[in-house]
Amino acid sequence: MSRFWSRLTHELKPYVPGEQPRIAELVKLNTNESPFGPSPRALEAISAEAADSLRLYPDPQASALRAALATYHRVRPEQVFVGNGSDEVLAHSFNALLKHDAPLLFPDITYSFYPVYCRLFGIAHEAVPLDRTMRIQVSDYRRSAGAIIIPNPNAPTGVALSRAEIAKLLEDHPDAPVVIDEAYVDFGAQTAIPLVATHKNLLVVQTMSKSRALAGLRVGYAIGDADLIEALTRVKDSFNSYPLGRPAQAGAIASIEDESYFQQSRARVIEAREGLTRGLSGLGFDVLPSSANFVFARHAAHEGAALAAALRQRAVIVRHFAVPRIADYLRITVGTDAQTERLLSALSEILGSNT
Ligand SMILES: *Cc1c(COP(=O)(O)O)cnc(C)c1O
Repeated sequence: MSRFWSRLTHELKPYVPGEQPRIAELVKLNTNESPFGPSPRALEAISAEAADSLRLYPDPQASALRAALATYHRVRPEQVFVGNGSDEVLAHSFNALLKHDAPLLFPDITYSFYPVYCRLFGIAHEAVPLDRTMRIQVSDYRRSAGAIIIPNPNAPTGVALSRAEIAKLLEDHPDAPVVIDEAYVDFGAQTAIPLVATHKNLLVVQTMSKSRALAGLRVGYAIGDADLIEALTRVKDSFNSYPLGRPAQAGAIASIEDESYFQQSRARVIEAREGLTRGLSGLGFDVLPSSANFVFARHAAHEGAALAAALRQRAVIVRHFAVPRIADYLRITVGTDAQTERLLSALSEILGSNT
């Protein structure tokens, strides 16, 4: 608190990212990073950019990267926007597309960055409750809406909507911008990108942080009608013309070109998720059906906060949200087989000793 701060700064409630502790031997299952490394081809491309050319500004339009994404997703380059992580792409979307007189709708249990952006940009919003099974019901969104944003799969539940349900949501709201945040879509959900061709109000946001194991590179993107992309570009060019450096643009292109590595590593995460789910169920956890690289689980006899604390004592870090409706859940990132074993044996010790 300082008298030098603007009024806006006094009123902000910043997002709190999952911690990045530096403890040896830690089993870190709290921020949904990939347990497997990035494509070796991406690493090579990034190294190749550590050169004299770093004197020069990068391509402000990231034309080569947008062209590669357009080919990959079968759209035109004018339908692709890239940014410094999808958080930045989302921030520009809130500013450019989601601020209207009628409230922005999003689920009550969802990515906690959304209300943070609303406060930063002064956006009226309304939370739409998940149903009792922690699912999004698109029919609950049939109300006055300036715009809608939904993660699919939802975070932190991991539960996905089908493309048909997203289509229904779009048909209910032909005049409102609808953003689908697909940070986890590659782990088993259906992307809404094919609906972009028929719905001018749809913006699909994806990231290279999760399924492409490039969280440290900061590359996210959006796909939508060229008119929506132009809105994002206007905001971006009023904020930072060069959000992606040369290494990021080159690494992202190489990652997209390495399809077999991508397919392999996401299949390994999906397989490991099934093992994690079976293990947790065996210990008496109720695990929501996940289409993401994490699971959301609770134990009937143990509080979430106590379990998270007991795990931490055993050097296993998971995410716990001290928030109504989900205080008893743990969000656990899918790790390597060895990490899953460490987690499950720590839990079985904790449950056995009635901590
Ligand atoms: C991780 C995440 C993002 C942001 O990822 P970036 O690393 O900024 O690309 C966006 N939305 C959701 C729901 C996420 O979980």
